[in-house]
Amino acid sequence: MAKKDPTDLSVEEKLKTLYQLQSALSAIDEKKALRGELPLEVQDLEDEIEGLTTRIEKIKNEISEFQKAISQKKGEIADAEASVARYKSQLDDVKNNREYDTLSKEIEFQTLEIELCNKKIREANTRIQEKQNELVLNEEVIKEREGDLEVKKNELDEIMQETRAEEEKLKEKVKDLESKIESRLLTSFKRIRKNARNGLGVVYVQRDACGGCFNKIPPQRQLDIKMHKKVIVCEYCGRIMIDPELAGVKIDKATGEEKKTRKRAIRKSASSKKTTDANDME
Ligand SMILES: [Zn+2]
Repeated sequence: MAKKDPTDLSVEEKLKTLYQLQSALSAIDEKKALRGELPLEVQDLEDEIEGLTTRIEKIKNEISEFQKAISQKKGEIADAEASVARYKSQLDDVKNNREYDTLSKEIEFQTLEIELCNKKIREANTRIQEKQNELVLNEEVIKEREGDLEVKKNELDEIMQETRAEEEKLKEKVKDLESKIESRLLTSFKRIRKNARNGLGVVYVQRDACGGCFNKIPPQRQLDIKMHKKVIVCEYCGRIMIDPELAGVKIDKATGEEKKTRKRAIRKSASSKKTTDANDME
């Protein structure tokens, strides 16, 4: 069958389609609620682990920089010690006091250099020790977070596995239903739904009251709703109100109890004349 132009639908069909859309969206909302904060918690943990990994990398680089500096200083010490040994051997052949003084000064200078290098090495070693402690701490934290992440991810996977297929099907259904609803009505519905606390944009009448905010509906309005000829919104909460029958809900006359029926009573409305509907909602 060729697809109908959304604007060709009768009001009754529009309302029914909207209600089916609402049901599918509510079912998706329910599955999302089931996942709760888990997706956010997983995201937070992943971000934290990424940050920790960067920090650990940085600490390791700092340690290796200090180690490089230490081996450089060790090289300088070796050079200075070689100079000292050379000057000391030259001391044996000095010809005069001036030469002796010069050599002695050089030896003193190189010895000071060696001391300075040793001091630098000690400082670097202290810094390396600090960095290594920092590294251990961060590695402990990251291990802990990775454990947490594993648990949360498994938890989420488990929930997703149970709901993914259903959710995909629901999303397909939503897409299909949305394509059947004219864009103006769909936009209004989405706006109402967004502003509604429970995500309900379409509700059916329950015990003479709006099924969304439970304010009583005046008798004339109730009659209008039963006619299925106009889109009627609740004057208190703005939700679109429909006849329970269109929602596939049967009211037991004796008990006033509602029963969801699977039976889809499709009654073609007698006059399919295009009553524009969304007017009522602007
Ligand atoms: Zn209401």
